[in-house]
Amino acid sequence: MKRRAQYAVVILGSALCVLAQTEPVADTIVQNAHVWTVDSTLPEVEAVAILGDRIVAVGSNQQVDAWRGPKTHVVDAAGKRLLPGFNDAHVHFTDGGAQLDSVELNDATSAQEFARRIRERAAKTAKGEWLLGGDWDETKWSPAELPTKEMIDAATPDVPVAVNRYDGHMVLANSLALKLAGITAQTANPPGGVIVRDGQGNPTGGLKDAAQDLLFKAVPQLTHDQRRHAIERALGHAASLGVTSVQHMNPEPADVAIYSELLEEGKLTTRIYAAPLITQVDDQLKIGIRRAFGGPYLRIGGVKAYADGSLGSATAYFFEPFSDQPGNRGLLSDEMHPISLMSDRMMRADAAGLQLCTHAIGDAGISAILDIYAEIEKEHGSRDRRWRIEHAQHMAAKDFDRFAQMHVIASVQPYHAIDDGRWAERRIGHDRASRTYAFRTFLDHGVRLALGTDWNVAPLNPMLTLYAATTRATLDGKNPNGWFPKQKLTIKEAIEAYTMGSAYAEFQENEKGSITSGKLADMVLLSDDVLTIDPVKIRDVKVLKTWVGGKLTYTAEAASK
Ligand SMILES: [Zn+2]
Repeated sequence: MKRRAQYAVVILGSALCVLAQTEPVADTIVQNAHVWTVDSTLPEVEAVAILGDRIVAVGSNQQVDAWRGPKTHVVDAAGKRLLPGFNDAHVHFTDGGAQLDSVELNDATSAQEFARRIRERAAKTAKGEWLLGGDWDETKWSPAELPTKEMIDAATPDVPVAVNRYDGHMVLANSLALKLAGITAQTANPPGGVIVRDGQGNPTGGLKDAAQDLLFKAVPQLTHDQRRHAIERALGHAASLGVTSVQHMNPEPADVAIYSELLEEGKLTTRIYAAPLITQVDDQLKIGIRRAFGGPYLRIGGVKAYADGSLGSATAYFFEPFSDQPGNRGLLSDEMHPISLMSDRMMRADAAGLQLCTHAIGDAGISAILDIYAEIEKEHGSRDRRWRIEHAQHMAAKDFDRFAQMHVIASVQPYHAIDDGRWAERRIGHDRASRTYAFRTFLDHGVRLALGTDWNVAPLNPMLTLYAATTRATLDGKNPNGWFPKQKLTIKEAIEAYTMGSAYAEFQENEKGSITSGKLADMVLLSDDVLTIDPVKIRDVKVLKTWVGGKLTYTAEAASK
């Protein structure tokens, strides 16, 4: 009760003297819950009281009941598990929302099925309108061969097609799309990109990394209404999955503008931290934005950079060649040609107080970024920067210590581990694979983790991420006890990294990330207790209710009955 008395003083000490005789009462009380707070001072409680957008009390049913008034809305959680809302530290939110409406190619299990779905969608697409999205994954086909334009050309004479590989590091174009983009046998590979060619040097339709830009230049930008629609779809999807905060990596400026518009209309139901591309760093520098600038629903002040490509597209940058492609050790991104260009931009961003979030996947790519981070620290001195490496997939053994010394955050996506784990060892061999998605090794070295999905690259559903982090059971069913099982996280570690870890990664650990009195009331009620069930069953757990800032943003049908 002491806690409550203090709170009353804070509230009543303001201009609300009219209330001086009455104690404040909660708007909402959630009781009879199994609450895992992710707050080590009070980890397990039964009930939570919310006033306005904040949590005002956590404790036993009886303790929290003291906040009940005649108008308090009481939710009986019926013994279900309540957690802080999930904070996805790495999403591509607009692409994810758009993907919900576009052609679905990810679960196609053959090249024929892939081609059939494109043919059907093209038949319903207006002449000249681009057919985009897809998220195809050729590793699910047998044989697992990269698709070519010949597979889809006959069915798409009037519809330009640019369907992306699920990792976003490769796109397949049909002949019409290549023509509109002016890509021919004579077009040279751009720095950081590859135009895939046949034996005669003709483009096959596959475009890797920076070569994708040659094509996407020809694709019309989303209109304002299309972009807003995609974001609204994404917000609804996030709420239904208990995702209460997302960190949007490389949004378009227009995305941020729509967040701002939705915020003004009171329709932004997921909290956003947006980190635009470092190539646009001057925009933020000009107005003096610093890290985590903004309010509880919308912040900017990070910059997203790319060091290299992806493992699946064989464009992640390694010290040694791929085991299955002897002549190839991947590509540095176009932003790294030359490396001094990247280092220059990062120096300027850091001098201005912006946060650096850098995509780096191959061991040499990660090392190159750590080199730049070390250079910056030497030039600008040390301070609380919370540099991040996004993905941090394949670590050189020597770099774990450097990661820890510079307090770099590993922003990781466990679902990629169970997905890539199907074939990663073929590509990089056993030794390198043993330091791949090395979540346990990071923790052992004192490196902080932030968890996310990379949606639309992987599903946004946090249950799949928790399942992946705790089981490491690859999607092909071949590693039921875990692929490199030593690297598994416990469920508590995974939840903490997905809530407090992600909040820390956006400088918001005092505002959210745990169910703590005074913090924002962002919470999720689950159908089953993820802390005690067999980890294999975590992927089937459903969200019953989601609260953001004390407001219900999602209620499952069954739960509302
Ligand atoms: Zn990403």
